[in-house]
This record gives sequence, C-alpha cells and structure tokens, in this order.
Amino acid sequence: MESTLKRTWSEIDLDALKHNYKVLRARVGENVKFLGVVKADAYGHGAVEVSRTLEENGADYLAVSSIDEAMELRVNGIKMPILILGHTPKEQVGRLIEYDITQAVTCLSKAKEYSNEAERHGKPLKVHIKVDTGMSRLGFLCEGQYFDTGVQNITEAVNEPFLNAEGIFTHFAVSDEPGEEALEYTKHQFRLFTDCIDAVEKKSGKKFEIKHCANTGAVAKYPEYSLDMVRPGLLLYGYGEFAKDLGLRPVMTLKTVVSTIKIYPAGTKISYGGIYTTTDTTRIGVLPYGYADGFFRCLSNRCELYTTEGLAPQRGKICMDMCMIDLTGKPGVDIGSEIEIFGVHNPVEKLAELAGTIPYELVCAVSKRVPRTYIKDGRIIGKELMLRM
Ligand SMILES: *Cc1c(COP(=O)(O)O)cnc(C)c1O
Repeated sequence: MESTLKRTWSEIDLDALKHNYKVLRARVGENVKFLGVVKADAYGHGAVEVSRTLEENGADYLAVSSIDEAMELRVNGIKMPILILGHTPKEQVGRLIEYDITQAVTCLSKAKEYSNEAERHGKPLKVHIKVDTGMSRLGFLCEGQYFDTGVQNITEAVNEPFLNAEGIFTHFAVSDEPGEEALEYTKHQFRLFTDCIDAVEKKSGKKFEIKHCANTGAVAKYPEYSLDMVRPGLLLYGYGEFAKDLGLRPVMTLKTVVSTIKIYPAGTKISYGGIYTTTDTTRIGVLPYGYADGFFRCLSNRCELYTTEGLAPQRGKICMDMCMIDLTGKPGVDIGSEIEIFGVHNPVEKLAELAGTIPYELVCAVSKRVPRTYIKDGRIIGKELMLRM
C-alpha cells in the first residue's frame, strides 16, 4: 500500500465534502430532506467514507445504483436509509428487507414481483415509485396519452399488499442545460410529476411521505422544485459551473509524481505513433499515469498537467501506464516532484471539456489501482487500495 501511494493517487478532501454539504443544506433549508447520491462508488470518491461524512453531518438519505453498492454501505456500518435507483432482481428482495434497503419500483410488473417476494418473506418492502416524466429511461410512463394508465398502474403498485410506498420520484433530463427550451421542458416535467402524484393520492387514498425530483441542475437552478427531498450528486463533489457559482469546493485531487526525466535533442519523436516531435532540446518527464489509471487517451498531446512551476503540456500518445510531459524551463520540477492531474489548480472541468465529456466521467474513470487518501480536519485519516491483496 505505502509503495503504491507515491505512484498515482487521489486525495479525497472530506472537509470540502462537508463544506459542500453544509452550503447545499443551508440552500435547501432544514425542512427539506437531503439525499446524497453515492452511486458508482460516490462518483469515484469512495462511497463508504463519503457516506460516513454525510451521515455524520446530518444528511437524511443515500442513493446507489445496485444492491451490491447498497450492501457495501451496510456492511461498513452505514445506518442511514439507502435508495437503490436501478434494477434489483426479485431474488434479492429478501436481502433488501433484511438490510432495510429501499428499492425503486419502475413498472407495475416489478411492483407485483417485489410484493409477491416480500410476502414470501413475511415483511413489506420499502419502495419509492419512479415516474417517467420525460427522461425516457426508467419509470411509469405518464406523459400525454399515458397519463391515465400511468396513474392507474402506480395506484395498483402502491396498493400491492407487501409494498410500503414511502416515496415517489422523477428525474429531470435537462435541468442543468441553459436556455428557454430546457426551462420549459423541466417545468413541464415538474408539473406532470405533481399532477401525477395528486391523481394517484386521490385514487389510492394514500399519501407519499417523500416526493423528490431535484438533481444537481434543479438544486442549482430550480430551488422551488425541492419538494420533500433533494437528490444532488455532482454538486456534493464540487464540480461543474453551478458548484463554482455556489462556492463549493472540488473534493478530489488526482496526483502523480515524475518518475523519470530525460533530455532529448530537437527532432525526437515521443511515444507511440510519434505524433509529437521535439522542436528544441526538450526536457521530458515520464509520469506513471496512463489510460489504465483513468486518463483519457483522447487527451493525448492536447492537455496540460499542473506542476509546482505551473502547467506543463502533455506530449505524445498517452500509454496504458504512463504519459510524458514537457518540463523544459521548469528546473524545479525533478524526479519525485508531485504533479496535479486535476484538482484545485487544474480543474477537472477543463480536462473534461478538452476530452469532449463531462466531469462526471473523469472522476468515475479513476481506476481501482489508484489508491485513495482521505483527508478530514486537515489530516490524513485513511488510505485505501481497491486491489485484492
Ligand atoms: C445520478 C442521479 C442523480 C444525481 O445526478 P447529479 O446530476 O449528479 O446531481 C439523481 N437522481 C437520479 C435518479 C440519478 O440517477
């Protein structure tokens, strides 16, 4: 573990996470529940430590994408309610009940399956109904001509004897997009969602305790859509334009070190394919960071990494385990010097834009051979390597 720590590693600033949570909590107010989305190993930040921090600071709910992700939290002592947003096979209903995990229900046939399984275990399964209001992914369809059947099916689902429908939710497709069209689309999704809830509550005679729809875009731009609970992911981790506007801090810093330095004459081709040729005497550093660590090969020869003497251009094709940077004119950067791949000095947003993607993808891509260091109260409180040792 110690040996790998000074190769390439990520620093997870739990103080920044706490700060982000507090800022967002103040924004939504005390009367709205707060669900932290920690799917995909908390967007690559480590779901257990992130969840512990949220739990300590008073968050109300967590969301993951699968039962395995939910179980990881339970076996590591997380007691908060956990919602599984994605599919769980009916064979796992017993475990959902045993570990007090809430399951999203996305259609009537699954509602029936889950209820039947729960009955076999003699206990109700806690569920949140998922409504498709325009994301066109999971959920009971209730747009336009489907409104009445949607309401009918949800009513039947919540009346299933072994389902406890604690909540109902929908997901916005364009809440984070600028422009009038996105605003109208989001408004329409919201109205359809609340109309659908009203109709189901009237028809079933049951009230949903937790209605929720606000993801990052909505928390930032439509605070009036908070309902009973907000459900941000990206904002918590402090990335994207909204995070900046709200004064949030990036939680992950990805670092590596210079492993080798060599000086080449002009005319030297660097790395596979020889796409970069030196034009002068050039001091090249080799970094133990490649696409198998989560670097995007499409960034080859197009990005910069941050050294103690400022930004250094990355040169030539990015390899599986290594890449090269130009350290010419940076005499203070030597073998063993730390390089910030992304973080406070070299924002992940900039790399994401260059790669034609979103920050979500870069933080999720940090691979399991990259160990994590967790920082709390300004001190290192834990180190973690995902490899089987
Ligand atoms: C991932 C996800 C979120 C969080 O999205 P962000 O854009 O990161 O805030 C919220 N709700 C659902 C259903 C999701 O799948």
